[in-house]
Amino acid sequence: MKISELKAGLEQRGLVPRNRFGQNFLIDPALLKSIPKDAGVQTGDRVLEVGPGAGALTEELLAAGALVLGVEIDVGLHAWLQERFHHEISEGSLRLVEGDVLAKTERLHPEVEAWWNSGPPPRVVSNLPYVISGPFLGRLPGRPLLGAHILLQKEMAEKAAGRGGAGSLPVRLGLSFEVSLGRGLPPEVFWPRPKVDSIFLNLHPLEEAPSPAEEKVLRELLRLGFAQKRKCLLPRLSADFPAASEALTNSGVLETARPEEVPASLWLKAAREVIIQDSSSP
Ligand code: SAM
Repeated sequence: MKISELKAGLEQRGLVPRNRFGQNFLIDPALLKSIPKDAGVQTGDRVLEVGPGAGALTEELLAAGALVLGVEIDVGLHAWLQERFHHEISEGSLRLVEGDVLAKTERLHPEVEAWWNSGPPPRVVSNLPYVISGPFLGRLPGRPLLGAHILLQKEMAEKAAGRGGAGSLPVRLGLSFEVSLGRGLPPEVFWPRPKVDSIFLNLHPLEEAPSPAEEKVLRELLRLGFAQKRKCLLPRLSADFPAASEALTNSGVLETARPEEVPASLWLKAAREVIIQDSSSP
C-alpha cells in the first residue's frame, strides 16, 4: 500500500496512527509483495495475521492464495478492513476478528483458538505490534504450527533468537522451533517511522519439540527459574518442583547455578521428571 493511499484512508475515517497499538504501517510495495514468498506461503495455507492494520500485508497474503485469519484490535481499522475486503470475506478466503489477539492465561482470543484447532497447522505471518511481541511469541510453543515469519523490533527478535540476554522465551522457542533471523528492515519502510530497526524472525517446528503437556510444565519451571535471575536457582525450584531440582542436580547443575547457565535440554529433562513424578504420585 502506498503511503498516499494509507494517509487518505485514515483521514477519511478520522483515524490517526496509534502508538499504544504499535501502529507502524508497512509502506514499501515491493517489500510487501515479497513477504508471502519469504514466509513460504503456499496456496491454501491457513495464515494468522496479527494486526492487519489497513490490510497492506493481508492483500499480499490473499494474492498468494492463503486463507487468512486477521485479528485487529483497532475498531476503526477493523471497520476499514471489512469494507476493503468485503469480497474476500464473503467468498471465505479472509476472516476478520475484532479484538485483542491475547487472552488471559497464556491463551489467544477464543475465536483464534477455535480457528487454530479446526484445521491443519497454520502459519503466522505478521508485522507484529511491538507492544505484544513477547507475550504473543510466548504463546506459540506447544501449538501445531507450519511456520512463522514475523516482523519484530530488532532487539526483540535477537532476544527471541537467544542472541541478546537470557530469558525463558529463547529457551522455550529454541526447544520447539528452529529459530532464525531473516531480513532486516530500516525505519524508512514504515509510516510513521519507528525509532529502531526491525527484522524478521523465522520459526520452523522441530520434530522432537516438547509435547503440549511438557511445554506447560516447562513454562512454569522457567517462569519460576527466571523470576529472580540473581538468586541461585536450585533452592528456589526445590520448594515447588522437587523433581526438577533433583533432575538438574543429578545432571551436574550446581547449587549456585543461575538459570541462564542451564542448557535448554536440561530444562526439558527437568520438566519431564516433574511429569513422571506427578503421574506416579497418588
Ligand atoms: N499489518 C499492518 C502493516 O504491516 O502495515 C499493520 C501492522 S502494525 C505494526 C500492528 C497492528 O496490530 C496495528 O494495526 C494494531 O492496531 C494491531 N494491534 C496492536 N495490538 C493488537 C492486539 N493486542 N491484538 C490485535 N491487533 C493488535
